[in-house]
Amino acid sequence: MKKALHFISHTLGFERLSKYERDYLHDANIRSSIYMGVIVMLLEIWMLVRQTVSKIIPKYLAGGDLLALLIKYTTKYWLFLLVGFGIMLFCSFQKDKKLSKGRFWALTIVGSACVLYTSVLSLESFTKESESVTPVMAGIMNAMLISIYVLLFVIGASIVVYALFKYLKHKTIVPLEHAAIIGFTLVCLAFGVFVSYSDFWGAKEIICFLTMVIYVGCLLIYRPYITILILGASFLGFYEVLLTYQNGMSFQAQEVVINGELLKITSGDTVNYITFFISLTTICFAIYHGRLNEAKKTKALEKSAKEDALTGMNNYSYFPALAKEYIQGVTENFGENVFLFLDVHNFKAFNDRRGFEAGDKFLVAIGKYISDIFSDSLCARQADDHFVVLTKTEGLQERLDRLNRLVHDYDEEILLGINCGAYHLTGENEDPRMAIDRARYAAHLIKNRFQTVYAEYDKTMSEEYHKRLYVVNSIDSAVSNGWIVPFYQPVVWSDTKELCGCEALARWMDPVYGQLFPNEFIPVLEEYRLIHKLDKAIFESVCRDLRAAMDAGKPVVPVSLNFSRLDFELMDAPQELEDLVTRYRIPKELIHVEVTESALTDNFSRLNAAMNRIKELGYSLWLDDFGSGYSSLNVLKDYQFDVVKIDMRFLSNLENSEKSKTLIDCIIKMANRINMLTLTEGVETEMQAEFLNQIGCNRLQGYLFGKPIPKDALYTRIDSGELIVAKKHL
Ligand code: C2E
Ligand code: MG
Ligand code: MG
Repeated sequence: MKKALHFISHTLGFERLSKYERDYLHDANIRSSIYMGVIVMLLEIWMLVRQTVSKIIPKYLAGGDLLALLIKYTTKYWLFLLVGFGIMLFCSFQKDKKLSKGRFWALTIVGSACVLYTSVLSLESFTKESESVTPVMAGIMNAMLISIYVLLFVIGASIVVYALFKYLKHKTIVPLEHAAIIGFTLVCLAFGVFVSYSDFWGAKEIICFLTMVIYVGCLLIYRPYITILILGASFLGFYEVLLTYQNGMSFQAQEVVINGELLKITSGDTVNYITFFISLTTICFAIYHGRLNEAKKTKALEKSAKEDALTGMNNYSYFPALAKEYIQGVTENFGENVFLFLDVHNFKAFNDRRGFEAGDKFLVAIGKYISDIFSDSLCARQADDHFVVLTKTEGLQERLDRLNRLVHDYDEEILLGINCGAYHLTGENEDPRMAIDRARYAAHLIKNRFQTVYAEYDKTMSEEYHKRLYVVNSIDSAVSNGWIVPFYQPVVWSDTKELCGCEALARWMDPVYGQLFPNEFIPVLEEYRLIHKLDKAIFESVCRDLRAAMDAGKPVVPVSLNFSRLDFELMDAPQELEDLVTRYRIPKELIHVEVTESALTDNFSRLNAAMNRIKELGYSLWLDDFGSGYSSLNVLKDYQFDVVKIDMRFLSNLENSEKSKTLIDCIIKMANRINMLTLTEGVETEMQAEFLNQIGCNRLQGYLFGKPIPKDALYTRIDSGELIVAKKHL
C-alpha cells in the first residue's frame, strides 16, 4: 500500500525534490523558453509579412496613408516581436543568476511591450456580439480578455520596475524567471483558445489551440499534477465552456448551424479530442520523468566530482572553481577576504596512537567543526589532515579560537590543535590555487609550534615561498640534469690531523638560483616527501666519484652519507645503497651511514629493523647531531652505532664555558665506555681542536680543516699536500 502510494505520488510529481533537481528542471525550462522566444519571433515576422502583403499594400495602392496603415495593421505584431526577442534574450543570458546588462535590457523590452500593448491596443480585440457569439458568451470572453490584459499590464509594469530595482542592487532574479515561465504558459494558452475559438466558429480546425497546448506542454515541463491541471483546465475550458455552453448544448451536442452552414461535432471528434489530451499528458509525464532522471544522474556525477568521500565536504579539485566564483562576487575591500590553510597539529601522533579508523573519525569530526564554524564560507578538505577555507576576516580570530578549542578537546591525552596559515585576497584576478599554496606556506612556518595558531602570508615571504615551490617542482629535473652534487668536507684524526674521511653534503647547483644550500631544499623536500630522490642521487654520485678515483689510482677515504628519516619510509634505503655499492664495486668500509638523532624518536620498530639491516650489510653506522634535539640516551642504548657525531652546538662558547667542556668530556667518556667512537662537528679553532684531542675525541670535522668543497677541489688540496691522507681510516 505504502509502495503504491509512493509510486502514485512519484508519478504525479508530488515527491519532494532536492534543490539541485528543482534548479535543474527550472534551468531546462529556461532553455526551452529560448526556443519559445524564437518561435514567437518567427510567427510575428510571418504575420508582419502577411499583413503587409494582404492588407497594407492593396490599401496603400488604393490611396491609403502608409503611416496610418502601418500603425493600424502592424503595431501589435511589432510589439509581439519585441516580446519574443526580449524573452529570448532574457533566457539566453541565464548563466549568471545575477541581473546582467543584457538581461536588464531584455526585461525592459518585454515589460514595456506588454504595457504598451495592453494599454493602447487591446480594445479593438474585444469580441462583439454576432451571429455566432451569444451575448452571454461575448460577456464571458471579454471578461477573460480584460483579466488577461490587466494581468499582462501589471506583469509588464512590474517587470520594468523590478528589473530596475534589482539591477541597481545587483540582486539575483530567479523569481522573475519563474514569473516569466508562468506568464508565457498563460499567454500561449490564451492565444490558442482565442484564435481557435474564432476559427471554430468560422468552421475551421482548432489547430492553433492544439499547437499551443503541445507547445506549452512539451517545452515547458511542470510537475505532472500541474501539467494535468493546466492541460485539463485548457481542454475543459475550451471544449466544455466555450464550445458547448455557448449554445446551451451539452458536450454530446451533435449539430450547430453557423453562417447558414450545418456543422457537426460528432462523438468521434470528442473521442479524438480526449485521446489527444490523454496522449499529450502522458508525453508530458514522460518528458518530466526523463528530465528528473537526467537531473539525478548529473547530480550523482557532480557529487562524486565535487565531494570529499570521507568528510562530505567539497573536495580540493572543486574548491578552486568555487573560490573563483566567490572572488568574482567580491567587488570591493578584497583584503577583507582571506584564504585559510588549516593543518591539524599532532594528527600523526593521534593516528599512530589511536589507529587509522579513529583517525578517519577524527577527520570527519574536524570537517564538521569547520563546516559549522564557517557555515557562511567556502570550506574544503585538501588532503590528509589539511583543510582550506575562504572566508571574511571579520570575527576570524574568534572562530579560529573556537575551532582550536574543539580540536584540542577531542582527545585529552594527545596535544591536538590547529595551525592556520592565512592569505588575504589582493584583487579579482587572484588564482585560488596559488592563494591556497601561500596560505599553506604561512601555515608551514608555524608547524610544530603549538602555541602559534595563526600566521599570515606577507610579501616578505614571497621570495622564499617561490624558491620552495621551485624546489618541489624541479627536484626531478635537478636529479636528471645533474644539478645535485655532493660536496666533501674533510674529517681528520684528532691526534695527527690527517684525513680519515669525508662527509658528503648535498649542494644544488641551480641554473636560476645559483648554488643552493641544504637548508634551502632539504626541509621542503622532506615536507613534500621527496627527499629520497635527492638522497638517491647523492648516494649514486658518491659511489661514482669513489669508483672514478679508484680507477684513476687516486687515494680514497671513507665517505659518510646522510640518510633522512623519510628515506626509510619512502624507499628501501638499505637495499638501494647496497645495489649502488655493488654496481660501482665499492668496498663497504668506504661508506658510512649517518642517521640524525631526531630521526630516531618515532616508529622504533621500523627504524630499528632498517638500522640492523645496514649493520648486517656491513656498513659503519654513525649517529649524527648527537645532543641537538631531545637527546635521549636511549638512542645510544637501542641502536648499534659505531660512531657518535657530537653536535657543533656544544662547541659554541667552549673557551669560556667550563660547563660545556665538562659536558663534552662526559659524553666522550661515556661513548668510549660503551665502545663507540666519537667525532665532534663544527671545529673552528685550534683551541677547540686541542681540547677535543686531549679529552680523547677520535675524529674532528669543521671549518678549521676545511669547508665542504667539490671533489676536484678536495683532490687539489690532497695533491698539494695541504691535506694528508691517513694510512688508516677506521
Ligand atoms: P650535518 O649532517 O650535521 O652536516 C654538517 C653541517 O655543518 C654541514 O652543513 C656543514 O657544512 C656544517 N659545518 C661543518 N663544519 C662546520 C663549522 O666548522 N662551522 C659551521 N658553522 N658549520 C659547519 P650543510 O652542508 O649546510 O648541511 C646541513 C645539513 O643538511 C646536514 O647536517 C644534513 O643534516 C643535511 N644534509 C646535507 N646533505 C644532505 C644529504 O645529502 N641528504 C640528507 N638527507 N641530508 C643532508
Ligand atoms: Mg651529517
Ligand atoms: Mg651533523
